[in-house]
Amino acid sequence: MSQNILVFIEQRAGQIRKSSLEALSEARRQAKTTSSQIQAVVIGANIKPLAAQLHKYKPNKIVLIDGEAYANYSTEGYTQALAEAIKKENPAYVFAAHTSMAKDLMPRVATRLDAPLASDVVELKNEAGKILAVRPMYSGKVYGTVEFTSPQAFLTLRPNRFEASESTNGGDVAQEDFAPAQANIRAKVVETHAATGQKIELSEAPIIVSGGRGIKGPENWAMLQELCDVLGAALGASRAVVDAGWIDHGHQVGQTGKTVSPQLYIACGISGAIQHLAGMSSSKVIVAINKDADAPIFKSATYGLVGDVFEIVPKVTEELRKLNLGS
Ligand SMILES: Cc1cc2nc3c(=O)[nH]c(=O)nc-3n(C[C@H](O)[C@H](O)[C@H](O)COP(=O)(O)OP(=O)(O)OC[C@H]3O[C@@H](n4cnc5c(N)ncnc54)[C@H](O)[C@@H]3O)c2cc1C
Repeated sequence: MSQNILVFIEQRAGQIRKSSLEALSEARRQAKTTSSQIQAVVIGANIKPLAAQLHKYKPNKIVLIDGEAYANYSTEGYTQALAEAIKKENPAYVFAAHTSMAKDLMPRVATRLDAPLASDVVELKNEAGKILAVRPMYSGKVYGTVEFTSPQAFLTLRPNRFEASESTNGGDVAQEDFAPAQANIRAKVVETHAATGQKIELSEAPIIVSGGRGIKGPENWAMLQELCDVLGAALGASRAVVDAGWIDHGHQVGQTGKTVSPQLYIACGISGAIQHLAGMSSSKVIVAINKDADAPIFKSATYGLVGDVFEIVPKVTEELRKLNLGS
């Protein structure tokens, strides 16, 4: 059996997700060790222009599944199309970015093809040409290394953990259109509404400023949003404030929210419950601002500021503004 890697490339509204490019780049790095082939599969409507962007990442082949039936993401339509493409290419591994779409799609496709799935993978190891996946278990309390004993395996890779890098090496990139059998789509998505307010996608953001119950009320998001704007950061939140209705669930970080892995995570008025840490503990640098010196968040923080968020955040924002980071 080949050690080929098929990468599912996620696009929304004609934009390829950065995390998909990370998965594709990591597949290329793994393929170097095993000299295997890489296929990048994109599904959507009018997606031909996306191929040029993928060429720069040097898969061996780009497979486009282009049709009106795929204009909006649907679980059934994408499952059938991706499963057929995988059957045709017969790779040893299927990679995807660990996104909301992948959480819906990949377990279904894996089950259909009777293959195992390792989700939210944070590191890949290579032993004698076999890929091993390191992933969190028990809400991130431990990390386990998974070895696959099946001929085919699915892996979803955590965004921001693997570097997206274009390549000038390698030969030609083949490109082909693939038309799967007419999908039997019983539930049709007629319209999608993007969440309002968030300027940068949380799971892919390099910097996140998050607020918890310590910010006292929804009227104080403006203070954190100012810091976000100065840093070019996305706004996150703890579950306590989502449950209180202060902010939409799309901002929630943690076990029942999003898993994030930014370069910098600034936790403002967040205690650091294990369920919150499960979603952000793999951030490169964690800054915690909390008035309680014994708050558990300080055990995970790289830098801790003991004090009142209402005093510290405006001062930090003001100082950062002087640095003119955006220009
Ligand atoms: C099954 C399950 C799943 C869960 N999933 C998630 C999840 O995905 N994400 C998540 O976040 N939680 C999750 N939780 C909830 C979690 O256990 C905590 O209840 C929650 O994270 C607490 O949110 P918080 O830190 O904002 O609030 P609190 O725990 O109330 O902490 C508020 C903090 O603010 C500090 N503070 C108060 N005033 C100020 C001030 N003026 N300046 C500075 N600091 C101040 C306090 O010292 C305190 O540490 C889950 C729980 C369960 C049971």
